[in-house]
Amino acid sequence: MSTTKNPKLIGESLALAVVVDGRRRTPPAAAQRLRAQEIYQTLKKLYPDTYAFLKFNTPFECLVAVMLSAQCTDVRVNMTTPALFARYKTVNDYAQSTQQELESYIKSCGFYHTKAKHIIATAKILVEKHRSKVPATMEKLLELPGVARKTANIVLGNAHKHHTGIAVDTHVKRVSTRLGLTRETNTDRIEQDLLRTFRPEQWWDINYLFIRHGRETCKAPTPFCSRCALSSLCPRNGITKST
Ligand code: SF4
Repeated sequence: MSTTKNPKLIGESLALAVVVDGRRRTPPAAAQRLRAQEIYQTLKKLYPDTYAFLKFNTPFECLVAVMLSAQCTDVRVNMTTPALFARYKTVNDYAQSTQQELESYIKSCGFYHTKAKHIIATAKILVEKHRSKVPATMEKLLELPGVARKTANIVLGNAHKHHTGIAVDTHVKRVSTRLGLTRETNTDRIEQDLLRTFRPEQWWDINYLFIRHGRETCKAPTPFCSRCALSSLCPRNGITKST
């Protein structure tokens, strides 16, 4: 049995996309983790000032902003929320709102009918069951309408400083895949791969680092590999189409 490294798939020794008898094999776990650490350190130097992309003042505003950001840009959400948050100041304000009025404030974010429905239903549950507080556990957050793991991870991290997972959005998914950190397509499974690969104290940063890298360099559909700081660590360095 011969073992070769495909020069098209690797930039240097740590980018271990190994081809054995013509088939790609998963790199050794230790090498993968070592490469992941280089990726993390490189991005951390590149983007030292990670920050929350969405603007909010309270845990519930955080939850509302993240719910609005589904299928919508953070820029658009940040343009929408000042008027919304000026009108709706408490969880109870949302719980008592009519669907029609809330929709009128969030229309520009898209899918506003469903989003308004979920926000009002969530506010009612918080008022009735959680003393108008945003829950501090993944389990309780996932019980809220329209809240999946991505939203829950962002809210837990921002509102409660509980960094127990990695929020996987479209940028994190694309960058993780191109960097060879996962072969999964399901976001929950991608998250599990990333949690196994990075250290717990890095989980919170990974979301923001990968989002920034995905927005600025590893773009969809075509990434700017020629100017990418991770090119020597990336098995997809040089790709010219969306993957
Ligand atoms: S921009 Fe290119 S080299 Fe950089 S992480 Fe994305 S696919 Fe890899």
